[in-house]
Amino acid sequence: MQCHALTSEKNRCPNEALAATRYCALHASEMTSPSVASAPTRLGGFLARLRGTLYAPIADGGKYDVPKWLNDAPTAQVIEHLQTHSDSMVRWMAAFVLRKRRAPEAIEPLWDTLLKDDTRFVRQQCAVALGKIGTPLVIAPLVQALNHDPDQAVRQACAIALGNLGLPQTMEEIVRVLEAEENIFVKWDCIVALGQLGDARVEKLLTRLQAEEIAQVIREACRDALQEIRQRHRAVA
Ligand SMILES: [Zn+2]
Repeated sequence: MQCHALTSEKNRCPNEALAATRYCALHASEMTSPSVASAPTRLGGFLARLRGTLYAPIADGGKYDVPKWLNDAPTAQVIEHLQTHSDSMVRWMAAFVLRKRRAPEAIEPLWDTLLKDDTRFVRQQCAVALGKIGTPLVIAPLVQALNHDPDQAVRQACAIALGNLGLPQTMEEIVRVLEAEENIFVKWDCIVALGQLGDARVEKLLTRLQAEEIAQVIREACRDALQEIRQRHRAVA
């Protein structure tokens, strides 16, 4: 299995993962370094999160009438269609079925398809599906595509998925993308995601964007996100 971490350029680490983990020797030690997990209890928490046991499923109102032959197929076969079918509509529907099943064994093939498929709406559905599976393991594929996918709609789907996941460790990545991104809709979704994460450390950035941005939708998104963050911190206090 290939390592599940990203390089500093936000590409997938090419190293082979160690047998006991999903990470290579370099990243496995990073994941358990004092800065990440200072005490055994924190490491235990990290491993529990890795298994996805601490998270409630993310709501999914998406509906599509998938043909019975695909909808009833075993997950391994649906994955096969996702990766090899010549009809992009079938690949899209396969991603949709995997999304509805929230199957963790689909993370690897969904990641692969998110990187390789020529059809943008297939890649977009893969991003949504990864978001719905909803364990911290999907952060790396979503961050990679948010940084590198050439299509705006795919990057938007990644930002939305990360916002819905609401995992605090994604805040810095979203901020980095927001500061470099030029597409107004992707920026908008990054700002919404930061509002969902609710981390007060982004207040300064959002306040600056709200004052400086030319686009009204961006200024309004900043206002709404700031409101959400402040409300949440009042509620905690
Ligand atoms: Zn690695």
